[in-house]
Amino acid sequence: MTGKLILVLNSGSSSLKFAIIDPEQDAPLLTGIAERLGSAEANFRMRWRHEEDKRQPCPNADHGRVIDQLFQHMHEHGIDAKDLTGVGHRVVHGGETFRDSAIIDEQVIAQIEQCAKLAPLHNPVNLLGIKAIAQKFPNLNQVAVFDTSFHQTLPEYAYTYALPYELYREHGLRRYGFHGSSHRFVAGRAADLLGKSLNDCNFISAHLGNGCSAAAIKGGVSVDTSMGLTPLEGLVMGSRCGDLDPGLVLHLTQTLNYTPDQLSHLLNKESGLLGVSEVSNDMRELLRLSDEGHQQATLAIDIFCYRLAKTIAGYYLATAPLDAIIFTGGIGENAAPVRAKVCAWLKPLGVDMDDEANHRHGEESQGRISKDDTLNIMVVPTNEELLIARDTLALIRRNK
Ligand code: ADP
Repeated sequence: MTGKLILVLNSGSSSLKFAIIDPEQDAPLLTGIAERLGSAEANFRMRWRHEEDKRQPCPNADHGRVIDQLFQHMHEHGIDAKDLTGVGHRVVHGGETFRDSAIIDEQVIAQIEQCAKLAPLHNPVNLLGIKAIAQKFPNLNQVAVFDTSFHQTLPEYAYTYALPYELYREHGLRRYGFHGSSHRFVAGRAADLLGKSLNDCNFISAHLGNGCSAAAIKGGVSVDTSMGLTPLEGLVMGSRCGDLDPGLVLHLTQTLNYTPDQLSHLLNKESGLLGVSEVSNDMRELLRLSDEGHQQATLAIDIFCYRLAKTIAGYYLATAPLDAIIFTGGIGENAAPVRAKVCAWLKPLGVDMDDEANHRHGEESQGRISKDDTLNIMVVPTNEELLIARDTLALIRRNK
C-alpha cells in the first residue's frame, strides 16, 4: 500500500461515515456509513472501489465497535493502521479557537470540548471517533477539520448580532457559519476550472443539501455566510426554517406555550421544505409533485428559490466584481429546475442561464451553465471528504 492513505471519519450521534482516500487521487478507495448505532438495527454499509456494495448488521454497536469492524475489513483488503498516513475528522464547531484545521493532541481535544458549549449535539459525538482512534491506535496522527473555520475570516460587521455586546463578549454568541469545507472545496475547484488563483477569485457559493448555506467569498476567503451561531439561520432547508422573525419565536413560547424542546423540534425537524409542503423534505420528490400540480410542493420550492436568490443578491454587494456563482450539494448539483428559478430572479445582476447546459448540469462545459459573456454560473460537485483528506495529509507532512 502507498503511504498516503487517509482515513476520513465523520461521527454523528447515531452514525459514522468513513472513507479511505488517497488525497492525490479523485476516487476514494472505500466509502461507507454505519447507521442507527446504539440500537438493535445498527448496520454497516460500505463500498470498496471496483466492488459491489456490502451490508452487514452490527446490532447495538457503538462508534468504537464500528471502528474495530472497519479496521477488520481494511485488514482483509490489505490495509492496516501502519498503512495509513493519518485520520482526518470532521468536527462541527471550532468556535473562534480554530481558524484552520489542526493536528489533534490533548490540548486540541480539550479545546474541542470547550467549543462543545456552542454545539452540544455535535462536538461531543465528533470526539467519540477521535477518542476511539486515539485509544486503539495511539501512534496514528489525527487531524480535525472544522465546519466553521473557513468562515473565521468574516469581518466583525458580518458576524456580530445586533444584541447586547456582552452576549458576544461573555458567551461567544455571534455568527460562525458552517459547511466551510464544502464552500472551500468548491471555491478551489471553481478557481482551477477558471484557470485562476483562488486568492484572485470572488465567488458566491450555494451549498444546497439537506442543510443549505450560502457563502460570499472575496479574494478566496469567506466574508459572509448565511448560517449563524447554529445551522438554523439563513436559507430554507429540508426541514429547518432558516431566517425567521425572532418575535415569532417569542409568540410560539409565550402565546402557544411551546417548550424549548418542542421549539427545537419544530424549527429543526418540522419546518423548511417539509413544513411548507406538508409532504416531504426531499427536493427531488417535491419537484416531481410540483410537476403533477401539487400546490404546496410548488410553494415550498418557490420560497426556497426566492430566499436563496435574495441572499445571493445581498452577497453580490460584498463580492462584486464576481467571478462566478457556484451551485453545489445534492440539490445544487442535480436540481436543474431549482437553479433555473434562482437564476431567473438574478437576471438584474447580469445572469443569463444557458438552459441546455443547465439541464446537462454543466457536465460538458467545465461546470459553466450560463451563456457566454454573462455572469458565470457554475455547477461544481462538492467533496468534503477529499478536502478533509488533503488537509490531513498537508498538516501531517508540515508537522514532520
Ligand atoms: P446531505 O446534506 O444530507 O449531504 P445531499 O447533499 O445529498 O444531502 O442533498 C440531498 C438533497 O438533494 C435532497 O433534497 C435530494 O432530493 C436532493 N437531490 C438529490 N438528487 C436530486 C435530483 N436528481 N434532483 C433534485 N434533487 C435532488
